[in-house]
Amino acid sequence: MISKAKGTYDVLPNESFKWAQLEDKARKMLTLFGYKEIRTPIFEYSEVFHRVNEQSDMVTKETYDFLDKGNRQLTLRPEGTAGVIRSFVENKMHVQNNLCKLYYIGPNFRYERPQKGRFRQFMQFGVEAIGSNDSALDAEVIGLAYSFIKELGLKGVKVRINSLGDNESRQNFKEALTAHFMPHSETLCQDCKNRLDKNPLRILDCKIDNEHEAVLSAPTPQDHLNAASREYFKSVLSYLDSADITYEIAPKLVRGLDYYTHTVFEIEADIEGFGAQNVLGGGGRYQSLVKELGGPDLPGIGFAFGMERLLLAMEAELLSFSSEPTPDIFLVATSHEARLEAIKILFEARNKGLIADMDYTGTNFKSQFKAALKSNSKYIFIIGEDELANLTVAIKNTETQEQEQVPMKIAVRTVISALGK
Ligand code: AMP
Repeated sequence: MISKAKGTYDVLPNESFKWAQLEDKARKMLTLFGYKEIRTPIFEYSEVFHRVNEQSDMVTKETYDFLDKGNRQLTLRPEGTAGVIRSFVENKMHVQNNLCKLYYIGPNFRYERPQKGRFRQFMQFGVEAIGSNDSALDAEVIGLAYSFIKELGLKGVKVRINSLGDNESRQNFKEALTAHFMPHSETLCQDCKNRLDKNPLRILDCKIDNEHEAVLSAPTPQDHLNAASREYFKSVLSYLDSADITYEIAPKLVRGLDYYTHTVFEIEADIEGFGAQNVLGGGGRYQSLVKELGGPDLPGIGFAFGMERLLLAMEAELLSFSSEPTPDIFLVATSHEARLEAIKILFEARNKGLIADMDYTGTNFKSQFKAALKSNSKYIFIIGEDELANLTVAIKNTETQEQEQVPMKIAVRTVISALGK
């Protein structure tokens, strides 16, 4: 037997309806906020992700990189943003719209150590709003993420927010961090030693050094915001207040990716036993990513939610999904002639919008009837010898157990009117 690859999972038929519903809820909310779907490839040329300025672990260590048969260097996408921006630039989307509000739903791939809520192939949905520096847009994007988690019914929903400031503030903060960590470099983990040089912000995010004394006493981005950045952050917060969004300022929040400037945020819920997995998604504003990928000098802001985590959270909180629809009609017919009539009715029912099925495995009446009951169908249509002779169908209502003989010609219509469809 060949098993699934490490870090992956199958969505089996008894689970897939939950996925479909989660996606459906996401699409509805995204549409309410005026976002349009974009679907980009699962693999891209590696340079889309491995840019000179991108030093995050996700991009330097966790990507699935490969050469195709034409010797092209490709990467399975580890996150949604870079591919969306690549497409935005390539398709010159800014020419049509001053502001592009895009969303995506799809799988990402990271070579991480699999654990609860962490996989090597996982699903994210997210948004990117590209083309505006308006601080109200930050509040809108955060508000969208917040509203969605609330809509799912999760409790203790909270936005954790921080500002890294503009490039100047960020640079000042970076220098302050380097100066702060330098005397401790010997005691930092190997990864953090490397980060000290390239991107000391990432040290604050380190999973190994998170209790390190120097990390705990490190300066925060807030200490280094210039006046304009402070003003911008204040304005974002005032819009959040206006929109009645509960938030908490998280002075140490920097987020993993290198491209963030100004606003960064995470959305948390309060789920028993979830610990760090309570962070359901996050995002931030980026200033130079569009330019870095060869486009115009336009800013963007976005977020992504991990969908496995959302489902795990909903299950842990016993939030229900609406159950899968059961068939309206299940047909039972044993003889070849009866099956010919049954097939006609089956296709007629489906053409008229009813969920209809019949059994293809059982031969005798008993086994077919068992299959009909197992399907939880609302009605069972029986075509036996008598029915065939009289051109009728025995229609059994599985809820009331009542059964009546109905002419074949009007059998489907009878059910349609009984169901009020
Ligand atoms: P990130 O793109 O790292 O900012 O992650 C955004 C969200 O995606 C996280 O909050 C998680 O919910 C989810 N996520 C990230 N990595 C994984 C993974 N390996 N497996 C499952 N979910 C993930």
